[in-house]
Amino acid sequence: MAQAAVMIQNGYLKSVIDATKAKNASEPEFIQAMEEVLSTIEPIVSKHEEEYKKEGLLERLVEPERIISFRVPWIDDKGQVQVNRGYRVQFNGAIGPYKGGLRFHPSVNQSILKFLGFEQIFKNALTGLPIGGGKGGSDFDPKGKSDNEVMKFCQSFMNELQKHIGQDLDVPAGDIGVGAREIGYLFGQYRKIRNVYEAGVLTGKGLEYGGSLTRKEATGYGLMYFVREMLKDHNIELNGKTAIISGSGNVAIYALEKAEKYGVKVLAMSDSNGCIYDKNGIDLETIKMIKEVQRGRVKDYLNHFPNAEYIENDGSSTPPVYKIKADIILPCATQNDINLETAKILVANGAIAVAEGANMPTTTEAINYFQENNVLFAPGKAANAGGVATSALEMVQNSMRFFWSYEEVDQKLDMIMTKIFARCKAAAYEYGYKDNYVVGANIAAFRKVARAMRAQGII
Ligand code: NDP
Repeated sequence: MAQAAVMIQNGYLKSVIDATKAKNASEPEFIQAMEEVLSTIEPIVSKHEEEYKKEGLLERLVEPERIISFRVPWIDDKGQVQVNRGYRVQFNGAIGPYKGGLRFHPSVNQSILKFLGFEQIFKNALTGLPIGGGKGGSDFDPKGKSDNEVMKFCQSFMNELQKHIGQDLDVPAGDIGVGAREIGYLFGQYRKIRNVYEAGVLTGKGLEYGGSLTRKEATGYGLMYFVREMLKDHNIELNGKTAIISGSGNVAIYALEKAEKYGVKVLAMSDSNGCIYDKNGIDLETIKMIKEVQRGRVKDYLNHFPNAEYIENDGSSTPPVYKIKADIILPCATQNDINLETAKILVANGAIAVAEGANMPTTTEAINYFQENNVLFAPGKAANAGGVATSALEMVQNSMRFFWSYEEVDQKLDMIMTKIFARCKAAAYEYGYKDNYVVGANIAAFRKVARAMRAQGII
C-alpha cells in the first residue's frame, strides 16, 4: 500500500524548498502546494541533481514567469463605485500557452492564485495536451450581485485582462464563481475591445458561440472516471457504494451525475453554509434546479424533500458533510477542506477512497493519514484534470472551426482520464511508491515539464 510522507535528504532540493518558503513567507497556500510537489520528486531530482542545479531548474520552476495585478473599478446598481483587485498568474508556459481558470471569490489573493497556478502546471502536463500553467481571478464576490453588476464587473476586468491573453498566449476558463454567465460577459467584452472573433481565447463558452459539448460536465465526470480506474485496479466494485460530496457547484453536480450512473448512492452534499443528507440519495434534478437555475442554497432541497436533513455548519473545523458515513469521499468545494481531524473521522467511518474534485482540498497531514490507513487517495491535479483537458479539446475544436458530438468529447475525456491514472500508477511503481498516486502524479508531470524547460534554455 501507499507509503508515508517522504523525509527529504537531497541537499539541493531542501535548499530550494527552504529558500522558496523564506521568499514567499506571506503566501501559505503557495508554500503548501510547492512543498507538496517538491517533497515528492526527490528520486528524480537526485538522479539529475547536477544538471538541475547548474541550470537553476527548480529555482525557475517555483518562480512564476509573470504576475499581473490590476485595479477593477465598476459601478453597482446603486450608482456606487466599487473597486476590486484582479490578477493573472502566468506560471509556466514551457509546454504550451498558459491555461487555467479564473476564480471570483472574496478570499482570492496572490497566494491562492499562485498555489492554483503552480498546481495547474503539473495538472496540465498530466493531461498529455500542450498547455502551460496559469490561473487568475479577483476578490469580487458574485454572490448576491445582480446580472447587471456581474456584467459590469466582468467588462471592467476584461478591459485590463485582454492586454495579457490570447489564443496562443494565455487561455483563461472558469473556476469558483466563474461559470457560463461570467465567461459569456468576459468573451463579449474581449470581442468588442479587440474587434476579432477569437473563439479560442477563453474556454467554458456557451455552445452557441464556440463552447464544447461535455465541458460543463467534464471535471465531475472525469473525477468519476479516475475513481473507476483506481477502484478497478484494486478489484473494488463501484456499483452499490455510497459517497459524500462537499460543495454543490459545477464539479460537485457532475460528479453526482456520473456517480449515480455508476450505481453509487450520494448521501450528502454541501455549500459554505451547511449540508443536506438524504438517506435515499440526493436527487440530481432537484439539486441542479436549485444551484444552476435558481442560484439557491442546498438548504432549499428541504422544500422538495422534507424528509431529508439539513445540518448547518457549526464553526467546527470539520464541516458536517464529512461526519456522514460513506465509502467514497469527493471533496469538490475548496482548498484545505479536510484537515487531519476530519481525515481521522473519515477513516474511522470506514472510507475506502478519497478523490479530490477540488484543488488541494486535503491538507498534507490528512493525505499522509489516509495513505497510512490504506485509504486510496486520488490527488486533484490528476483526478480533476478532466475540466482543463476538455478545455483543451474546446481549443482544438475552435481551431478547426468545427465541433465534436457529446459522445465524441466524452469518449476522449474518458480516454484522457484513463491515461492519467495509468501515468500516475506507472510513475509511482517506477520509483517504488506503489499506489501512492500523489508521488506518481507529481513525478510524471514534473518529468515532462522539466524536460521542456531544459530544452528551452535558461529563460
Ligand atoms: P463553483 O463556484 O461552481 O462551486 C463551488 C462550491 O464550493 C459551492 O458549492 C461553494 O459553496 C463551495 N465553496 C466555495 N468556497 C467555499 C468555502 N470557502 N467553504 C465552503 N464551501 C465553499 O466552483 P467549481 O465547482 O467550479 O469548483 C470547485 C472546486 O473545483 C474548486 O477548488 C476549483 O478550483 C476546482 N476545480 C474546478 C474545475 C472546473 O472545471 N470548474 C476544474 C478543476 C478543479 P457556496 O455556494 O456556499 O460558496
